[in-house]
Amino acid sequence: MKYYILFGSNEGDRLEILKSVFVDLKSTYGEMTFSSLYESEPWGFESQNNFMNIIFAFDSTDTPHQVLSYLQHLEFKYGRTRDNKLTGYQSRTIDLDILLCDSSIVNTETLQIPHPRLHLRRFTLEPLSELDSEYLHPVLKLKVSNLLNSCDDKSSVKVLMDLNQLKKYLLL
Ligand code: AMP
Repeated sequence: MKYYILFGSNEGDRLEILKSVFVDLKSTYGEMTFSSLYESEPWGFESQNNFMNIIFAFDSTDTPHQVLSYLQHLEFKYGRTRDNKLTGYQSRTIDLDILLCDSSIVNTETLQIPHPRLHLRRFTLEPLSELDSEYLHPVLKLKVSNLLNSCDDKSSVKVLMDLNQLKKYLLL
């Protein structure tokens, strides 16, 4: 199954965290493709720090719940702390979401695929459309390119490093 994972970080050494997560994902799942690295405004809350976002794609025979559990292990490893007093969106050193997994639809208490807010966020749709604009959203039955064109989110999402710069940075 092909997994699309969104990485987000707006605290700490965002580039260092990205590099470490890349190395870990690669050693676990093997070869990966990825989007450019984007910088986006915080979505749903106020913060001084912008987010870095990137999408990783890899093939794995692991189940979606196994992948989720590994991503949560990485979130813990790279210092994500959850402030229980705060609800809703907040700053984080690392956030890893499963966006899509082939045309699978998963609807459990702990995991929903496609990610339920995928189509609402420009910072998800821009990198996804760079990777595969023809991808058909399995629930909405619309291509990623159409979702991006009709997305109401007008917040700023800019390329911070293109693929060439990113490959140099990741020493590939
Ligand atoms: P967040 O704090 O926004 O990263 O949400 C994390 C929670 O969302 C976790 O407890 C997961 O069980 C749940 N979750 C539901 N669907 C997904 C998904 N597609 N990818 C990652 N986490 C998910």
